[in-house]
Amino acid sequence: MRPWERYFRSVVPYVPGEQPREERLIKLNTNENPYPPAPGVAEALRHMDAEKFRKYPDPAASVLVKVLADYHGLDPEQVFVGVGSDDVLAMAFLTFFNSGKPVFFPDVTYSFYPVWAELFGIPYETRALDDDFCIDPRDYDGENGGVVFPNPNAPTGHLLPLEQIKDILEHNQDVVVIVDEAYIDFGGVSARQLLENYENLLVVRTFSKSRSMAGMRIGYALGDAALIKAMSDVKYSYNSYTMNMPALILGAEAVKDEAYFRKTTQKIVDTRERAKARFADLGFEFPDSLANFLFVKHKRVPAVQLYEALRERKIYVRYFDKPRISDYLRITIGTDDEMEALFSFLESYLN
Ligand code: PMP
Repeated sequence: MRPWERYFRSVVPYVPGEQPREERLIKLNTNENPYPPAPGVAEALRHMDAEKFRKYPDPAASVLVKVLADYHGLDPEQVFVGVGSDDVLAMAFLTFFNSGKPVFFPDVTYSFYPVWAELFGIPYETRALDDDFCIDPRDYDGENGGVVFPNPNAPTGHLLPLEQIKDILEHNQDVVVIVDEAYIDFGGVSARQLLENYENLLVVRTFSKSRSMAGMRIGYALGDAALIKAMSDVKYSYNSYTMNMPALILGAEAVKDEAYFRKTTQKIVDTRERAKARFADLGFEFPDSLANFLFVKHKRVPAVQLYEALRERKIYVRYFDKPRISDYLRITIGTDDEMEALFSFLESYLN
């Protein structure tokens, strides 16, 4: 080891799903949307003037913040935007979880939470989901440094009803509670409506799933103006220009087309409901997902074996070699054609 290497920061990074280079494959491994972004996004992209890139973008991201505030019926002071919800969540961890007390999140959840906690030196404790992969609000009682969970949860797809989120908030009035709604648009009820009553609630959203813009990297948070101001101060202490100019313009464009948004999310919901019946017929079990993925376990064939067999056929799904979930595959809902290819392979493989 060279002398300076002794002082390198040593971390165990989050490992994102594979992004294979090859074009001819069925990619159901990272919960992307199989449909393109709203047509207005491509249109705005065609009219983009590269000369504008000469200047820095608006550090306050006002165009996008305003569109999102109007969309959610909030003031612009209640909206924070970032480079994907990963950036927003990282900023929220840095901003809110400084009490020195452990932050609570489920044992089976988005695997980036413990990575940020380790990176920022935030103590944390996981709370075990029950045998059906459900959160018990009572597990979040007691002294803590904050609470964070996705709703629907990832990778299970299970939705926590609003009443139970309220219950968690009622028992955690002295800390910030973050609800990560990356997958809420596929049939869930948003905690947005709780913001009026809970000034310690932060709702985090993304353009990566329901708005088909994972490649653009846009996420945002909704919350009380004091929370948003605190996050902005941390952001300005780190990088003033997180949002690039195309992301601001194209993100705003995407939000304007509500009809397209409804049509594509509904298509994914319909495909998901048909997929549930097919998976059940093939001998799979799964929690009842309200996300754009299903978390499936076969009664007979081990998940890792199916994962390899699918991969061989150029069908990519996600496998987590982790406690409690190593019997499961997380499969993104693709187009009807993609799902048909998946099921016809599974039918012949399993029979
Ligand atoms: N939260 C959850 C629960 C997720 O599954 C993801 C996707 N990996 C994210 C946040 C981050 O998504 P993005 O940064 O693309 O907005």
